[in-house]
Amino acid sequence: MPGGGGLSLGRPYRRTQPEAVRATDGDALLSRLSACRAGYLSPDPYAVMLLGHAEAPRRPPIINIGTYLRAREVDVLVQHFIDTGACGRPYTHASRVQIVSLGAGSDTRFWRLRDARLAKYLELDFSSTTSRKAAVIQAHPELGNALEDTHATADGIVSSTYVLLGMDLGTLHQGAWERAAAYLDPALPTLLLCECVLAYMDVDVANAALRACLATLPHASILSYDMCISSDSHGPAPTRFGQVMLQNLAARKLTLPGARGCTSKAAYVERFQHLAEHASHLECQAYTLRESWHQLEGQERRRVSMLEHLDEVEELEMLLEHYCIAWMDRAIVQ
Ligand code: SAH
Repeated sequence: MPGGGGLSLGRPYRRTQPEAVRATDGDALLSRLSACRAGYLSPDPYAVMLLGHAEAPRRPPIINIGTYLRAREVDVLVQHFIDTGACGRPYTHASRVQIVSLGAGSDTRFWRLRDARLAKYLELDFSSTTSRKAAVIQAHPELGNALEDTHATADGIVSSTYVLLGMDLGTLHQGAWERAAAYLDPALPTLLLCECVLAYMDVDVANAALRACLATLPHASILSYDMCISSDSHGPAPTRFGQVMLQNLAARKLTLPGARGCTSKAAYVERFQHLAEHASHLECQAYTLRESWHQLEGQERRRVSMLEHLDEVEELEMLLEHYCIAWMDRAIVQ
């Protein structure tokens, strides 16, 4: 049994908190590959390159369905943003847009999208993660050839469209954002993509970081996917299921300050609206993965339901209820 006899077996038990947060990237990648392998998502050859091999453990069906819904919802919203410059109702006429992925990890969306309307695609993460990603991009022509005018930096890559920068997001409001903002055109609508990252950051620190980004971007949107450990009918305290989620993650040395501080979709909406003070255009929405599961078009839902045998229908509903998508479009016109 791991850890038996009181002996430390090294990782994950000896991980420090920052190491544990960095390791979540590997989990996201393995979950994605498991959902691809089981047929929920289309194959993602770029994810295999980033992992370094094609072996990914099989995740249980409920995890695969959660991963599928998350990827689908985020992909649809990101594509809508690229097409219209907004996550919701279009409000600008820009022909090009920018995306900044905060805590991008091993995400492959840039290579899957390759849209001519993308003026810039920035990825930010800890420099240990961006250095590793930069090395993989340079080693694989399928990844590297998608970039133009590329040059390597100490911990990332700068090219005409794609830019990979190493930095602690917790320092964005202390000057680090200026380094990223230098690659952006403030006239273009810009999406701040936060997929599974806000839960790891203290709410005040993350809000300060998001404020620093918003301050330089008159037309900005935020799109977050993350856990919500309470339910809107239950008040801000975690549900029993939410408590179990926290306990499971605490065993992996993850304390989830952001998940504890922003616990429901209503809390996300309130938080984003607060960040958008003085907006001349503001739209904000949040919904759980359970809602997206029930809104899935009939034929697609049948396809997905038949891919694997699913016993734990109640557990699936509960799990999906504890993850939410939240987005905000906000413009400031001087
Ligand atoms: N967004 C990616 C990865 C999610 S895993 C995806 O959805 O696949 C969370 C990522 O956030 C990890 O890569 C982790 O290193 C990064 N992260 C968390 N806190 C961070 C911080 N303070 N600064 C930089 N990166 C951070």
